Amino acid sequence: MNANGRTRVHLLVAAAIALLAAGPLGLGDGPVAEAKEAARAKSKSKSKKAKQVECRPQSPQKFLKRRTFVQKGMLVPSKHAKAVRYLAERYGHVETEETRRFNQESAHSQATTVQFMGLPLSIHEKIAPALHCVEKRIRATCSGKPRRYTPRAVGGFRTANSYRGAEISNHLFGIAVDIDPDRNPCCGCVDPWPTSPLCQEKKRTAYERTALTRCWIKAFERYGFDWLGHDDLEDTMHFEFLGNPDRFYKK
Ligand SMILES: [Zn+2]
Repeated sequence: MNANGRTRVHLLVAAAIALLAAGPLGLGDGPVAEAKEAARAKSKSKSKKAKQVECRPQSPQKFLKRRTFVQKGMLVPSKHAKAVRYLAERYGHVETEETRRFNQESAHSQATTVQFMGLPLSIHEKIAPALHCVEKRIRATCSGKPRRYTPRAVGGFRTANSYRGAEISNHLFGIAVDIDPDRNPCCGCVDPWPTSPLCQEKKRTAYERTALTRCWIKAFERYGFDWLGHDDLEDTMHFEFLGNPDRFYKK
């Protein structure tokens, strides 16, 4: 080996040592990546904590109420469009051209099944906290005979529109809940409802026509649900969440 050769070997050794020394940082940021991962997991569990539900009472928003955009049985297009836009932006589209313009994601893709008063119920995941608060309220205040009510069948998400014409049922957004249609009639709905024996009886108010107790209705209304017993439809089985779903999360 001549002098030149020896220098080359020395240089190679030096380069190898340099590479080894750089190892942990230069050849893969192992410990750094691990630290980042741990930080991510920590902030994730933190944000989960921040999403804890707080049952703050709220009213349904007036512009979303059916009786705001349906007046004397006629749809008021501008008012209806405003409500539909808000719901589509917040909850997703319902397979119509109009709602797709406001949201690429479908409402139904955000469906979740919860247990409501012991019964499985498919709803939009964003209203799960609202329903949780309603159930908590019912369990705390609606026991004892005049207040108690035991549901047998509940329905939430639907994929087919039950309204004729341009009106969109809030069941398509997953924000409406029906309770026991056989006991809580909708006398203003399409046939066969108006001819049902439950609608033939002379009653003064929707409260008298429904088997639901006022305590139950109040529990829903306390957390942003609108009861369609108040509507021209007298749809006494039906509640829809028209509040702000984000208000239930602890900040
Ligand atoms: Zn309904």
